[in-house]
Amino acid sequence: MCEQSYSRFLTPGFKPFDPLWLARETERIVCDGDKRKYTAFYATGVYAGIATGYIVGCCLRCYYCWTGFERDFPEFFGHFYGPEEAMRRIEETARRYEVNKARISGGEPTLCRRHLLSLPEAFQETDLKLFILETNGILFGADRSYVRAIGRFERVHVRVSLKAGTPEGFTARTGAVPEAFELPFRAVEALLNEGVSFHVAAMTDPRIMPARERKALIERLTEIDAVVAANLEEEICDPYETTLVRMAAYGIDPAEFFGLRKKSSPDAGHPGGL
Ligand code: SF4
Repeated sequence: MCEQSYSRFLTPGFKPFDPLWLARETERIVCDGDKRKYTAFYATGVYAGIATGYIVGCCLRCYYCWTGFERDFPEFFGHFYGPEEAMRRIEETARRYEVNKARISGGEPTLCRRHLLSLPEAFQETDLKLFILETNGILFGADRSYVRAIGRFERVHVRVSLKAGTPEGFTARTGAVPEAFELPFRAVEALLNEGVSFHVAAMTDPRIMPARERKALIERLTEIDAVVAANLEEEICDPYETTLVRMAAYGIDPAEFFGLRKKSSPDAGHPGGL
């Protein structure tokens, strides 16, 4: 019997989880046949304007994550949409805001495989230019056939977001066991070998990832492919409300992290301090 409990926020001294187990548990909440939970459909300025379906559920628990609290409490948020209905709403949003790209965001799109593999099919019926999948690479890395299935669709681009350059950094940042560290890199290899359009991003913000680890990440990517490594998109952590709460739960003072409060002196508050 599995003794893991459903992970929500990371707290100091957390017990690392198997992200494939968390993916399955989350799917029991957010998937229903080929339907998946969404909380909203809207357009945003990233990618020079993109219509977005905001999905529920992820298989990692990054402490700096900016997504809504539906990541942590998927039972309480969202409504189920089939792939055609979800794409119809995304397309309507694109038309209303005069943008020609689409994506699903806010969670991990590779959860609910039946739903995800039907979405690009529905997308092919639209006249939108590009469908972007933003993934943490865990499920793609665990199953090459999933990558192959995505590769048969045209006008689909994958963005893989790496979280760490070492197994220890991966666990500390995402909450997942260090054995899963390699999965996103395997996803990159599979995307490359299957000829899927993709690029790689990484949370290399120096407040989160030490310079040595960033170097290790870039070296690992270079081993896979020098061009992929050279086109790495480097992410910066922003103070979204949910990020602040998750950092505080993890034991990081967000005001200090974002430079709004000076680090206290080690002697502060000590009667004998200078
Ligand atoms: S940052 Fe991305 S991968 Fe990490 S928990 Fe949030 S949605 Fe999941």
